[in-house]
Amino acid sequence: MPQLGFGVWQVPDDEAEQAVSTALEAGYRSIDTAAIYGNEEGTGKAIAASGIPRDEVFVTTKLWNADQGYDSTLRAFDASLAKLGLDYVDLYLIHWPLPSKDKYVDSYKAFEKLYSDGRAKAIGVSNFLPEHLERLLGETSVVPAINQIELHPHLQQHAARDFHGAQGIATEAWSPLGQGKGLLEVPAIVAIAQKHNRTPAQIVLRWHLQLGTVVIPKSVTPSRIRENIDVFDFTLDTEDLAAISALNEDRRIGPNPATFDIV
Ligand code: NAD
Repeated sequence: MPQLGFGVWQVPDDEAEQAVSTALEAGYRSIDTAAIYGNEEGTGKAIAASGIPRDEVFVTTKLWNADQGYDSTLRAFDASLAKLGLDYVDLYLIHWPLPSKDKYVDSYKAFEKLYSDGRAKAIGVSNFLPEHLERLLGETSVVPAINQIELHPHLQQHAARDFHGAQGIATEAWSPLGQGKGLLEVPAIVAIAQKHNRTPAQIVLRWHLQLGTVVIPKSVTPSRIRENIDVFDFTLDTEDLAAISALNEDRRIGPNPATFDIV
């Protein structure tokens, strides 16, 4: 899986084709969508139109909360594949654990079937807390490849990353730029950007890469789409990394997975 991919949350279906096409032209080879984003069709059209061989593009989609359960998961997966116009996905994720509904173990057992059938080349989860992962590890057989969680300099997720590392689960950062709200104006980040003659977004993305997490920034602006992948030719030094580490506030932008139960 490429360490840096392109996220398409909040991109309407009719804009997704253009945005994903721009991303593929800019060199992205990993796209993160979800059934609930409503843009699997536009995403699939861009991939088909790109002419890039299927095995060179890494496609992730996610099971929506309302479809949790063994049979409903299998049906939802078929619907996602049909919208994407693909015969397999590279990674399928349970979008949220929804502990109050208590269906994520059954849903994951359906994921294991999709995995053994080769229709999902890898399976994983999103927004799972260590307690939810522990239950999966105890009651199912395939270790989730990845847990996609909210992660940015204001929410550095030390405990989750340590837990994932110990279990062989990769960490993927959603809202890696803090949704562009405020984080990119933080003086410490602006100062590091000036020092390296880069943009604040590039500094934050570079921090993620050096942390070792998978990262999936979103933009629909072509210049920003290109800017966000242009982060492989410079390195943050220990002083930069320490200054960004000091920004942790354990502050979420999104919902708390322990209580989020919207279907
Ligand atoms: P993000 O942190 O990637 O921020 C995106 C926003 O930042 C853009 O809309 C824009 O306003 C701004 N931005 C982007 N590039 C910029 C640049 N170069 N300069 C200045 N501003 C810039 O936020 P996100 O979209 O929430 O997260 C990224 C992806 O993560 C999503 O698209 C989606 O694929 C995934 N995601 C997953 C979940 C989940 O529950 N699994 C939740 C949220 C997001």
